[in-house]
Amino acid sequence: MAKTRVHNFSAGPGALPLPVLMRAKQELDELPDVGMSVLEISHRSSTFNDIIQTTQNNLRTLLDIPNNYHILFLAGGASLQFSMVPMNFLRKSGECAYYIVGGTWGQKAMEQARREGDTSRLWDGSSEKFSRMPSFDEINPISSGAYVHITSNETIQGIQLQWEPTFGVPLICDMSSDFLSRPVSVTNYGLMYAGVQKNIGPAGVTVVIIRKDMLECIPDGLHSMLDYRVHVAKDSSYNTPPVFSIYMANLVTKWLLEDVGGLAKMNAINQEKADILYSTIDNSTGFYIGHAHEDSRSAMNVTWRIEDQTLEEKFVAEAYDSGLHNLKGHHSIGGLRASIYNAVTLESVHALQYFMLDFQSRWE
Ligand SMILES: *Cc1c(COP(=O)(O)O)cnc(C)c1O
Repeated sequence: MAKTRVHNFSAGPGALPLPVLMRAKQELDELPDVGMSVLEISHRSSTFNDIIQTTQNNLRTLLDIPNNYHILFLAGGASLQFSMVPMNFLRKSGECAYYIVGGTWGQKAMEQARREGDTSRLWDGSSEKFSRMPSFDEINPISSGAYVHITSNETIQGIQLQWEPTFGVPLICDMSSDFLSRPVSVTNYGLMYAGVQKNIGPAGVTVVIIRKDMLECIPDGLHSMLDYRVHVAKDSSYNTPPVFSIYMANLVTKWLLEDVGGLAKMNAINQEKADILYSTIDNSTGFYIGHAHEDSRSAMNVTWRIEDQTLEEKFVAEAYDSGLHNLKGHHSIGGLRASIYNAVTLESVHALQYFMLDFQSRWE
């Protein structure tokens, strides 16, 4: 199997750890002691209950999540959270929701919130082509409002927040593309959410971590599926949850705990991988040009261009032939992008570095 697996730099769904895939393959037809596949079990069974419980426990351990936070597994992707957040916390608040717009995903989140009430941009990086995150000093302090929404890592532009924000109002964070890549201070947040297909599983489930007191602000009369309180009351099983995606997230969180050794270790490995690619760009004497400002460089999505942009197509095609897949930048901004999520190995990153050096030596 190892021989035919390519180096996968996809931005999402992203690479998954090989040991996790092998375990899922081994258990696919028959979960130990259950006699059937996880694809076939009832979401009301004790087996699935255990899967939910241990995934929550693993997340609590990895992120040091205190007991005054609920952990939910919801369907609809991170995109549904763009709507659920303002429905639950803005619609009836009579206050303004503040958005820090660092890139495409922050923009999309704010577009949905506008339908529900007053919104305001606390910061917007569009005039700089979303090439950096704001520093704390640039953001106007606010003392009232429904919430502040921020995207910790802008997947398309390849920029990542390097400081942990705190505000006088509840902070809500879209962590889809750097969730579990580094430690975070959960207690800074009223709510955080992450579609798991970037870093911790296959598409289909979104992890939502919500502080208990946030539930008190939710208006009555929302549709049940869109009311966080309903999912809390039913422990993510109000309707049929994405059973297989949750099972995979269970295996990935176990891998993070037992094989990797926690998020501080994961972060160190991720930084090492990112440094290899950014230094290759920096040392290319202008052949490669990074998109992100140095202080905002993402450790998850490395975005860059070739000075002679006509070479980019060739780069992607030749890389593909060398077993390096999914390096084309997002269609909205072009260029090149290497997503190096948790499961992308140091070996894959070295293979890409080697290819970048070789490509430069041939085309410079
Ligand atoms: C991918 C992504 C999304 C959208 O996720 P879906 O699960 O496809 O809705 C939202 N925010 C960020 C930061 C992302 O990377």
